[in-house]
Amino acid sequence: MTIRIAVIGAGTAGSGAARRAVELGASVTLIERDAPASGSSGRSAAIYNVQTVDPLHIELRMRARELFFRLEAEHGLPLKRIGNVRVAWSDADLERLEAVNQVQRELGLGPEDALLINREELQQLVPDLDTTDLAGGLFGPRDGTVNGEIMCQALVTEAVELGAVYKKAEILGHVRQDDGTHLLSTSDGHVVADVVINAAGAWAGIVGDMLGHPVPVLPQVHDIVKVTLEKPLSYTVPMVNLYMPGSDEEALYFRQFDETTLLAGFHTYKVVEGHPIADPNNFRGEVEPSYVAAVQEAITERFHVPGMTAHAGWTGLYPCTADEEFIIGPEPGDNSVITCTGLGGVGVTSGAIAGYSAAEWAVTGQPTTVPGATRWLPGRKSLKGTTK
Ligand SMILES: Cc1cc2nc3c(=O)[nH]c(=O)nc-3n(C[C@H](O)[C@H](O)[C@H](O)COP(=O)(O)OP(=O)(O)OC[C@H]3O[C@@H](n4cnc5c(N)ncnc54)[C@H](O)[C@@H]3O)c2cc1C
Repeated sequence: MTIRIAVIGAGTAGSGAARRAVELGASVTLIERDAPASGSSGRSAAIYNVQTVDPLHIELRMRARELFFRLEAEHGLPLKRIGNVRVAWSDADLERLEAVNQVQRELGLGPEDALLINREELQQLVPDLDTTDLAGGLFGPRDGTVNGEIMCQALVTEAVELGAVYKKAEILGHVRQDDGTHLLSTSDGHVVADVVINAAGAWAGIVGDMLGHPVPVLPQVHDIVKVTLEKPLSYTVPMVNLYMPGSDEEALYFRQFDETTLLAGFHTYKVVEGHPIADPNNFRGEVEPSYVAAVQEAITERFHVPGMTAHAGWTGLYPCTADEEFIIGPEPGDNSVITCTGLGGVGVTSGAIAGYSAAEWAVTGQPTTVPGATRWLPGRKSLKGTTK
């Protein structure tokens, strides 16, 4: 019998999950209360890259990038290959990135995807960057930006073409029926499913409570700042990310947005002070002036272009977790509820393939596109005590 899967949320995770589940032969209903990417996926800085330190994350991002390149070719998904550099602050950082680059080679990435650069090369890449206290970085020439809305819409379109039903409705309640199936009540009638995938991002906690499987996702408010340039630069500013995973401090990032604007902010994988955990239905929509001022100060110190002015951009939510890791897989003791969230500040890069993994759990009982995704199972000890 064909398995009926209800996917909740059409961000990167849910759109990917629906696309993959229908490809695997499931009967899929994708339920989204607003529009694809209307949550965090449409409020990001839109960066995709493979320059991270953990081999499993590199592999997941590689698969995601392959998907983006296919969607670019087949659906005209707009990708801007502006490049992405993860900056090394010290020789120790550079050594760490060198080891990462070795892993990238073993996973099949060539120098067109990832190469180690020294301080001089970093300076050539970003001529106005103050590199005096930096050691170099890991640079991805084919990394860049992806439009989250168009990516989610392309995945939804493909899912629907393959037979999925897209339902614009809000999940309001849930009952487990005597035969074990799930009865979801929505703002537009009921949906019955054998398996539910909770891909509601920062709202996965609320949806998880309805499903009887609380999800310890921490919705962390993040802001984006626009930095206006007095005149266009003679080069495109790649994504410059000064955050080293593992660091307790958040760090500046910035990238070209349009001819005379950069996007900037502070990035971290952690739940840090200054980025409040919010009620996802009621978080501040305004960027705080103190944040704009902090970005202005940090970028002026680091990027020596005269006359830059920082302005409020927009806010959104990182769906974070206490252990800084994704949550993907069946809930403990219940294979019929699959959670897919916790994508933090990297869900545009990683979400679609996180969703693929959730769909694979739902249909085949294990993740296959990225087999190591078994690491992200719900219910693990490091998430305990953080349900919100
Ligand atoms: C300021 C900012 C900058 C970022 N920059 C980047 C970046 O440069 N690169 C990167 O990779 N990542 C970035 N991210 C992170 C990325 O945006 C998120 O990790 C990712 O979008 C999460 O995707 P998701 O599918 O899990 O959640 P979402 O995109 O939030 O999707 C969840 C969906 O569920 C729906 N939903 C919720 N409740 C219900 C309900 N009851 N019924 C029906 N539908 C429901 C919502 O409407 C929403 O569409 C950034 C995030 C922010 C906020």
